[in-house]
Parts: sequence; structure tokens; C-alpha cells
Amino acid sequence: MVEKEAMYKITYGLFVLTSTDGEKQNGCIVNTVSMLTDNPKRIVVFVNKANYTEELLRKTGVFNVSVLTEKTPFETFKQFGFCSGRDTDKFAGKNYPKTENGLYYLPEFANAVMSAKVIDSYDYGTHTLFVAEVTEAKTLSDDKSVSYEYYQSHIKPKPAAPKAEETGGKEKWVCKICGYVHEGELPDDFICPWCKHPASDFEKIN
Ligand code: FE
Repeated sequence: MVEKEAMYKITYGLFVLTSTDGEKQNGCIVNTVSMLTDNPKRIVVFVNKANYTEELLRKTGVFNVSVLTEKTPFETFKQFGFCSGRDTDKFAGKNYPKTENGLYYLPEFANAVMSAKVIDSYDYGTHTLFVAEVTEAKTLSDDKSVSYEYYQSHIKPKPAAPKAEETGGKEKWVCKICGYVHEGELPDDFICPWCKHPASDFEKIN
């Protein structure tokens, strides 16, 4: 058998992945960036196709990875993780610095940024695996990189147990990944509107 819980034991970091459609820039949170080869410096990143940034990576092939630290507030995860850049401008009204490729990065809550250029991409159904050559990389601080586990236990707000009068007898489900709360029956094919995880990642809270 394949135990889902066993898969949760794999360690991940958290990163803001920024890219561009040629004019507007967009960013999303990813937990899968790894170095593939040291010489030359190549990295891999897997991106959920539900993220607009996935489309941008296929289109223009240039991106930045900001490595988030343990000091990153939940607001940053909300800003980049839980809304789609298809209909919002995630950088609106904010002044971010740029790397040599012209893309934004997060100076405040990242300890490093790397710029890369896609050299290969592989379609795996829900996700695309991108292989990229690093064109620039710099250290921004000595703060500790945040792990996915640290985010779950120290940054993500714990969902408050709903009061009886609030639920009105309706069932409530919370997404274990991002904290989104769904009211009413949860269909098997439900997709979390915030983090795009399936119904199997929800648990009943009342
Ligand atoms: Fe979610």
C-alpha cells in the first residue's frame, strides 16, 4: 500500500517563483526547487499547472527563485500563494528590486535569490517539471531557510474551531495545506481554491 502520511515525511523548502509574460510579472509559492547539477549550475522546479506562473515559465522560460526564511509572515504566503495572477497583479503598489534579467525578487524575507533560464520541460499531468540553467545567484541574508514543516507549525494560523451558532448545522472542512475553510458537503473532486490541493487534503472540523 501507499501511505499518504509517509509521503509527508519528505522535507521541502518554500520559495517564491517569479516570472513574466513579457510585460506583467507574476509570482507563486512553490515547495519544490532542487539543484540538479553543480557544474554547470542547474536547478529543477516542479510547478502545478493551476498556477499562472507555470504558463509563464513555458512561455518566456525565465524565472527567479527567492528562498524564503523562517521570518516570512503569513501575509507573504497569502499574497503569492492563494490568489491567481491571471486576474490580480500580485506586485501592484509594491516596490520590489530586480535581478539582472529584469524580474522581481523578495529582498525582505528571502536569504538568497537565483535567476534561471529553462532548458527542458517535462509534462507530468498536473505538474510540469522544468530544468533550468542558473544565470545569476546571490545571498541576501544569513536567516534560516524555512521548511514546509516549519511553515505548517509556526507560520500558518491554526483554524479556530467554529462555534455551534456559526456552523448552523452545516459541515465544515479545512484544507490541511493552506487553512482554507469550506462550508457544506465536500465533493470528491473538490479542489482547494487557495492552494489547488484535492479533497483528500481536507479534514472535517465540526
Ligand atoms: Fe488549500
